[in-house]
Amino acid sequence: MANLKYVQSTCPYCGSGCSFNLVVKDGKVVDTAPYTRSPVNEGKLCPKGNYAHEFVNSPDRLTTPLIRKDGVLTEATWEEAIAYIAENFKKYQPSERCCLSSARVSNEDNYAMMKFARGVFKTNHIDHCARLCHSSTVAGLAGSFGSGAMTNSIPDIAEAKCIFIIGSNTFEQHPLIGRREVMAKKNGAKYIYADPRRTITGSPADLFLQFNSGTDVALLNGLMHDIIENGWEDKEFVEKRTKGYEELKALVMQDKYSLENVAKITGLAAEDIHTAADWIANSGGCALIYSMGITQHTVGVDNVHACANLQMLTGNLGKPGCGVNPLRGQNNVQGACDMGALPVNFSGYQKVTDEAAHKKFEDAWAFPDGIAPMQNGYEVTVMMNVLCDNPGELKCMYIMGENPLLSDPDLNHVKHAFENLEFVVVQDIFMTETCEYADVILPAVCYAERDGTQTNTERRVQRWRKAQDAPGQAIDDWRIIAKIAAAMGYEEQFKWESYSEVFDEMAALTPQYAGMNYERLEGPDGLHWPCKTAEDPGTPILHKEKFLTADGLGVFFPAEWQAP
Ligand code: SF4
Repeated sequence: MANLKYVQSTCPYCGSGCSFNLVVKDGKVVDTAPYTRSPVNEGKLCPKGNYAHEFVNSPDRLTTPLIRKDGVLTEATWEEAIAYIAENFKKYQPSERCCLSSARVSNEDNYAMMKFARGVFKTNHIDHCARLCHSSTVAGLAGSFGSGAMTNSIPDIAEAKCIFIIGSNTFEQHPLIGRREVMAKKNGAKYIYADPRRTITGSPADLFLQFNSGTDVALLNGLMHDIIENGWEDKEFVEKRTKGYEELKALVMQDKYSLENVAKITGLAAEDIHTAADWIANSGGCALIYSMGITQHTVGVDNVHACANLQMLTGNLGKPGCGVNPLRGQNNVQGACDMGALPVNFSGYQKVTDEAAHKKFEDAWAFPDGIAPMQNGYEVTVMMNVLCDNPGELKCMYIMGENPLLSDPDLNHVKHAFENLEFVVVQDIFMTETCEYADVILPAVCYAERDGTQTNTERRVQRWRKAQDAPGQAIDDWRIIAKIAAAMGYEEQFKWESYSEVFDEMAALTPQYAGMNYERLEGPDGLHWPCKTAEDPGTPILHKEKFLTADGLGVFFPAEWQAP
């Protein structure tokens, strides 16, 4: 008789972070089944989640370390591969080394890679694919609110009295968040959909604003113009909770943002803009939801600031059914950022240039020869430019779970950049396009073969659980990192025995995660950061009493519209 069991896990695809059960038959993952206790998806899944078991036992999985010898990839033992990597990485100066971490792998793996970059490589040249999707969110919302994350929770969207979706095809990209948008509509919410394209997400809209591409800031400023002109702003919220209002008002009240002019710029009817302004300001709670249609512009930060300005102006923050809700793309892009897989931050957005933060990490990690200097590293886009424009400055790269040869913009540029690298190590679960440039390829485990945590777009930290053994010789990403670190002389600093030990070290250094541990994360709800103490129940809604800025005030950043 077959041996069957269910193992609860979270989806490895998009940032919604749905839970499901992995069905394990005779030690192999064979299916997914509903896990109804998850507050994120309540047992529902989109097609991606429904088939998240299919790739796990693919015959194409990497199963053994490979070293390129005379141009040919040759099977090697772990001992040979690690010794070869360490010998080569040691040849280079800290400033010649760089790392790419991953929004696909766990928080623990990202923390390990962040520590490796700063403690072993002694460099801050570490980044990952968040640079290409939501870095404008992190920069924009950190300035406006003191935190670059989604302000409200996924279930909370269904509570909104009005939802304003701009630059997000939620039904296709985050289907189980789209479900909450539909629930809000069924609960009576006004549904505004703003997008240059007519997408499926716009189909339930009460008001469809099909504006000209690249006119987001003009539209948002026009909405604020109309709100102020009609006296619909939340005066108490603006006065008590924000600063910079007069500058915002001076900018958006210019004639160029009158309804008539914004109608001309955006291609919309003036009365539709007026209706949207009315609903956003006067429905009794509006949730603004955006995604890459806002962020992936040359003026992405301006777009984000304008979204934040609108929601502060109307007091739609710090309450249920409101907020500024950027939908993160990949499953753990929030977590990879939180873990400090970024060139300017340690974990918890503690700045590498901050003396106190630098000392805190240096003391805690206790590398005998210190850590990377207090100097920002290169973003992945800058790494590629430096490799092309200044060959010889960067010489080796360590890549975990990223595929820049597929996912970065301008692939000819990226190819050129990789041709200028002397030594490349890739660890992944499949033979990716980037492996073509690798000197060593290391087989890692996938989500179904590991424990660990990931953090979804609403800042909810949830567990992965090991459901089956890894294929061949594949091992966990953080264990690979620890092996390389040990071979380079830093065994003591990476002496973890389990995922929870890595998590505990990270939580001790990361204020937003300080109150979390594996025991507390065992239940179906996970925990929303910030969760600062063992008693802290976590924070599904940010900015209730004050913002996370130094003085607790939200900051208006007026943004002028620029034609694309
Ligand atoms: Fe997975 Fe996203 Fe689909 Fe949920 S909505 S099942 S997280 S791909």
